[in-house]
Amino acid sequence: ELDLDVLIIGAGPIGIACALECKRRNLNYVVLEKGALTNSLFNYPLNMTFFSTSEKLEIDNIPFISNNPKPTRNEALEYYRRVSTSNLLKIHLYEKVTELNKTPNGFTIQSNKSLYNAKNVIIATGFYDIPNLLNVEGEDLPKVFHYYKEAHPFSLQNIAVVGASNSSVDAALEIYRKGGNVTMIVRGDGIGERVKYWVKPDILNRIEEGSIKAYFNSEIKSIKPSEIIINTPEGEKIIANDYVIALTGYRPNFEFLENAGIDFSKDGKSIPNYNPETMESNVKGLYLAGVICGGKETHKWFIENSRIHAKQITKHIDKNRQI
Ligand code: FAD
Repeated sequence: ELDLDVLIIGAGPIGIACALECKRRNLNYVVLEKGALTNSLFNYPLNMTFFSTSEKLEIDNIPFISNNPKPTRNEALEYYRRVSTSNLLKIHLYEKVTELNKTPNGFTIQSNKSLYNAKNVIIATGFYDIPNLLNVEGEDLPKVFHYYKEAHPFSLQNIAVVGASNSSVDAALEIYRKGGNVTMIVRGDGIGERVKYWVKPDILNRIEEGSIKAYFNSEIKSIKPSEIIINTPEGEKIIANDYVIALTGYRPNFEFLENAGIDFSKDGKSIPNYNPETMESNVKGLYLAGVICGGKETHKWFIENSRIHAKQITKHIDKNRQI
């Protein structure tokens, strides 16, 4: 006999939304989370403000009250924490799923702590664990970071920020304002199209006045202990450098999905194969929820448009249970 109706992997906002829906439908479930509750949000920059307004981040219609239209990381941590604790959700933290195998009636799920059986599995593991690397010499030096938390350590230092999306722009502005000497290295020919519209003028003006230097159509070629070599349209340049903050995006754990038997689109986007009505993947009983559904297109899904996955999935599981 199988122990669980549903095992949910990942306690991000969407994994938590799935747990609430399972509870509502009386499905026997558990959530396994490899880190802290909402581990991705926990790892965001400390001063990060969401681009979504608070009501768009709500799950299960539980009000998210924030004094400002756009809540901060700390407010979001408070919200998802309170939603989880007050609903007594069954979440096991610091328990990483290492293997997922199909059995005739469901799945066996191996974690670093225990072995589970479940009729259905929901993968809600997001994309924030694996950074896209630059793949250049020196990237393994301890002065290179792929996550950014706060500006203070970078004050009075020469900092290269790689990328021109929201994360890079926020980091560049914050470090500049805390007294860092910031140079942006940008592969494209301008600041990213999806940069928050209220932040864009700030970064464009700082670049224009020269407070923040920017090399467009440029890439880091190699990283040395006290300088970096960059390829620019004007040729190679060597600039003094203390730290590199490479915020060039993140990707889902494709290997984990592949090992679970999930197929992907072959158009370079690696979009996992799922039914958009039920969110069931090509593996029966295995569902995908949240931002992981976008494959390499990590900007396609966010909390606002993927929180609905929880209802779609549990509705389908519930229907199958009644057959
Ligand atoms: P996640 O929140 O990433 O949750 C996945 C969870 O799965 C993590 O806690 C992870 O630790 C866990 N996990 C992974 N692998 C395993 C495993 N093998 N075993 C157990 N657990 C595992 N979205 C918005 O809607 N609005 C915003 O304003 C916004 N701002 C953002 C700002 C930044 C800097 C970033 C990076 C993202 C932002 N996003 C925003 C996108 C946001 O990350 C996602 O919308 C949200 O976190 C997705 O929720 P999720 O539950 O799908 O995935």
